[in-house]
Amino acid sequence: MRKNIVAGNWKMNCDLSETKVLLEGLTQSLPASLKADVIVSPPYTSLYYAFENLKDTPIMVASQNINENDKGAFTGEISAKMLKSVGVNYAIVGHSERREIYKETDALLKTKLDQALQNEICPIFCIGEKLEAREEGKHFEVVKHQLEKATFHLTAEDFKKLVIAYEPVWAIGTGKTASPEQAQEIHQYIRDLIANKYNQSVADEVSILYGGSVKPANAKEIFGQADVDGGLIGGASLKATDFLAIVDAF
Ligand code: PGA
Repeated sequence: MRKNIVAGNWKMNCDLSETKVLLEGLTQSLPASLKADVIVSPPYTSLYYAFENLKDTPIMVASQNINENDKGAFTGEISAKMLKSVGVNYAIVGHSERREIYKETDALLKTKLDQALQNEICPIFCIGEKLEAREEGKHFEVVKHQLEKATFHLTAEDFKKLVIAYEPVWAIGTGKTASPEQAQEIHQYIRDLIANKYNQSVADEVSILYGGSVKPANAKEIFGQADVDGGLIGGASLKATDFLAIVDAF
């Protein structure tokens, strides 16, 4: 009953003319019937263009971040309401690059999730451990903590609007991927945490995506795992043929 989702995280890539080329590549070769919901997440400067050019297609638009405040004196920031006004339906929240480089804490991410939900934007909430934690066998503990601190204040109704992305930091942009078994093990653990906090039907409804060096060559095996409902794709989302091959990998 939950959705398969493939979301492309473009990160700080693609100016307007590159956005145009990439979106044309996607829309021209998009298969007539899709096995997954498809989302692209261009940088802020391309969001409105993307929305305008995708509104007659099934592809949806996400932002890569969201501000935790409603509006006001926050120079350089973009509010959830502004994002909604340019057609954004999803927002990536808590990507490891935001946590690491911009020091986003669990408490901050909690308020970002609230802002997104209040503005009817579905968060794609990212969690995942760093290499040291994996090596010390602490990965379960890390994802539990991240999930609890930022999301467990939500009502079951709101929690069902989330998409969770498990992205082991050691696999992001490194060419290393979690093995399908490693992905399944932790996805199942995440789903069990949700079932314990809420109930099994909430847990069964939430899509849990895997992210970290997904490419056409490994997508099928990863997406074939029972608790992996798709992927959050970085590098491979910048090439239309690769991204579409991943969308087709279910
Ligand atoms: P990657 O990035 O696919 O390039 O590893 C994934 C992500 O950061 O979301």
